[in-house]
Amino acid sequence: MTTDLKSPATPDAAWQDDVRAGVRHVRDLDRLPLSPAERAAAQAAATAHKVRAPKAYLDLIDWSDPNDPIRAQVIPSPDELVAAEGELDDPIGDHAFSPVPRLTHRHADRVLLFPTYQCAVYCRFCFRKESLTSIGRGYTREALGPALAYIADHAEIREVILTGGDPLSLPDKALEEIRARIEAIPHVRLLRIHTRVPVALPARITTGLVAVLQGRLMVTVVTHFNHPREITDDVERACRTMRQAGFVLLNQSVLLKGVNDQVEVLEELCRELMYRLGVKPYYLHHGDLARGMAHRRTTIAEGQALVAALRRRLSGICSPTYVIDLPDGGGKVPLAASHIEGCEAGTWRIRGQDGEAREYREVVG
Ligand SMILES: *Cc1c(COP(=O)(O)O)cnc(C)c1O
Ligand code: SF4
Repeated sequence: MTTDLKSPATPDAAWQDDVRAGVRHVRDLDRLPLSPAERAAAQAAATAHKVRAPKAYLDLIDWSDPNDPIRAQVIPSPDELVAAEGELDDPIGDHAFSPVPRLTHRHADRVLLFPTYQCAVYCRFCFRKESLTSIGRGYTREALGPALAYIADHAEIREVILTGGDPLSLPDKALEEIRARIEAIPHVRLLRIHTRVPVALPARITTGLVAVLQGRLMVTVVTHFNHPREITDDVERACRTMRQAGFVLLNQSVLLKGVNDQVEVLEELCRELMYRLGVKPYYLHHGDLARGMAHRRTTIAEGQALVAALRRRLSGICSPTYVIDLPDGGGKVPLAASHIEGCEAGTWRIRGQDGEAREYREVVG
């Protein structure tokens, strides 16, 4: 590993080629090995949510398997056109807590900042897809002005979370400017970046990119891996580059039917994230109410059974917290079934990991 410390940055041209050779427009679907019927279906579905995927990500697809878990995440499916009752445009209530454009402030100490509404890959299950398609704006210095003034005016804000869109789809120069502007606000302590770039476009994680993010602030990169097959040598290199820059790496996954709703898949994903990439599994999100996604949602009971089995197999460090992001700004709350069965006169009945309940008598001084 020490020899890699000084390995040269992946040349910028590598990731740009990866973008160019990928799918950027609906017409690029023509180049994929789809049957005419599959292509027509994908083209129709792409009208509801943009289509985009770099070549590196498309290369992971096994085209002989119509249910391939990588394909399911990026190739539009006609099921997306089926709107189920109860689905929402803004499933986690971002807009209700947006005091100024491009900022969401729901928890006192942290804000979401949206420097761009573009992504390197458009995930079919995206919970912000309505914002991405209807707004579609990029970064300009002026666009973030009100949001940064708001952060400067609110001394309780400690963490600025760059999300979007995908912040790492921006050029280094823009990221450097954003980092410097946030860093200039003295009460901000931590810069968080929520991104799918390390998964979908790992060659984009260059030493030049990590250098522009380094400064006064603690940097945390929250990646978004959903399946163990997304973990490749290039991804490992990208994560090593970020760890060597001193960034704390966490991952959030979305529980998706037919992609990762099997305990073996989640177990391998969480182990490889931690043991191979040094990325701590942070959240496993229950599928939110994004439109046209009923076909990828599990029930909460299914999710609870999965995470109970997962917790028995994994160490604490490898275990994500299963959460739901409540509509109307209720925030993220844990969903795992409680181990507590009851309490009477200071004696609690608590189920152990083996499923057997035990009594725990409280002794306090
Ligand atoms: C998810 C989210 C955060 C970050 O929450 P953590 O639990 O700290 O990861 C902050 N603000 C909003 C509006 C969010 O949706
Ligand atoms: S990268 Fe994130 S914001 Fe962009 S489409 Fe995927 S889930 Fe949505």
